[in-house]
Amino acid sequence: MARLVMKFGGTSVANMERIRNVAQHVRREVEAGHQVAVVVSAMAGKTNELVGWVNEGSKLYDPREYDAVVASGEQVTSGLLAIVLQDMGISARSWQGWQIPLLTSDAHGSARIEGIDGKNLDDGFKRGEVAVIAGFQGIHADTGRLTTLGRGGSDTSAVAIAAAIGAERCDIYTDVDGVYTTDPRIVSKARRLEKVAFEEMLEMASLGAKVLQVRSVELAMVHKVRTYVRSSFDDPANPTPGTLICDEEEIMEQQIVTGIAYSKDEAQITLRRVADKPGVAAAIFVPLADANINVDMIIQVTSDNTTSTDITFTVPTADFERAKTILEGRKAEINFGALEGARDLVKVSAIGIGMRSHAGVAARAFKAFADKGINIRAITTSEIKFSLLIDAAYTELAVRTLHSLYGLDAA
Ligand code: ADP
Ligand code: ASP
Ligand code: MG
Repeated sequence: MARLVMKFGGTSVANMERIRNVAQHVRREVEAGHQVAVVVSAMAGKTNELVGWVNEGSKLYDPREYDAVVASGEQVTSGLLAIVLQDMGISARSWQGWQIPLLTSDAHGSARIEGIDGKNLDDGFKRGEVAVIAGFQGIHADTGRLTTLGRGGSDTSAVAIAAAIGAERCDIYTDVDGVYTTDPRIVSKARRLEKVAFEEMLEMASLGAKVLQVRSVELAMVHKVRTYVRSSFDDPANPTPGTLICDEEEIMEQQIVTGIAYSKDEAQITLRRVADKPGVAAAIFVPLADANINVDMIIQVTSDNTTSTDITFTVPTADFERAKTILEGRKAEINFGALEGARDLVKVSAIGIGMRSHAGVAARAFKAFADKGINIRAITTSEIKFSLLIDAAYTELAVRTLHSLYGLDAA
């Protein structure tokens, strides 16, 4: 009997009516003869509410208690879906992360999955039960404390469970019917992709397309899990297949650019007149790394004299103040002239495996942005993507411009 993992995100389980709708999708697969593990997220908005309460409790909260609180959203939906399935005459039970158990590291708030014992789930399948699993959560074996996998982490729970139980497929049901050339909520001409290569999906997810959590794509790639993104709003009796995430060899027609992603909440810091000598970059970036601040784009330019330089880099807005405080505290040691900062920036990126074999792809974007009067603050490129940092006010214009430029607009 083939096994299947079906994952439903927050919008798909937002209320009892939607949970009943989810149960209809599950019923279809059970009736088709599958052994089904369902992974659910918390109801839409719930995790944000829980995080808000934690922050109200204390700015310096204990991350173990953060996890105890925010993991609760998924406990509710897993129990509710099991109840609704039972009400429809389908044998089902809920599983919390610790009951499986889904073992993780102790990095509370963004724990990594270290192992999943499939034995208990196997026993449930033998009893003919649908396993309804609380996504996003696990347990740290040594301390016995609850952990969570980072925002959007139910995707990762689903793929990891699919690998652990040897599922033939992992279906990620969400509020759009697949992966699009860009976020369909901001570009109406976005097109649904039949297939996306793992590497491209990985870049799209890391560069802001929140349709899949980055880690879930990594796991799907490593464990070769056939993963589809599809819609829970399709008619449960007649659903569309969605988008397959797969090896690039499976994709016949390869575009130069496959997708455009954007990531908000970027901030920029510039250190003016930093001494141009060995050790300066280390003096700046080591303390930031020690404080777990993720530095992204880095630019170094020579100032008008040869002994000093300007260094500009980006950090997430959430870390902006902390980064400034750390650098100001080391002003004498780093020996910079002035610190300038800007918030409300956005990083817009174009991704495509076809860039490997084509030159001048990014240069076309610079010209298009110039024509639209969009100022580029920083640029990074790598083998299959490039990213441009711009003012957030231009986000939609920039995404639409790149989308048209690379021929991605739907007819
Ligand atoms: P869920 O709650 O089901 O996990 P998410 O909100 O995490 O859903 O992810 C789905 C959302 O991702 C969509 O509603 C869409 O706005 C957004 N998104 C961003 N980029 C893309 C893309 N390239 N293709 C599809 N959806 C995208
Ligand atoms: N509920 C969690 C979140 O909102 C996990 C998820 O939805 O994947 O981040
Ligand atoms: Mg999600």
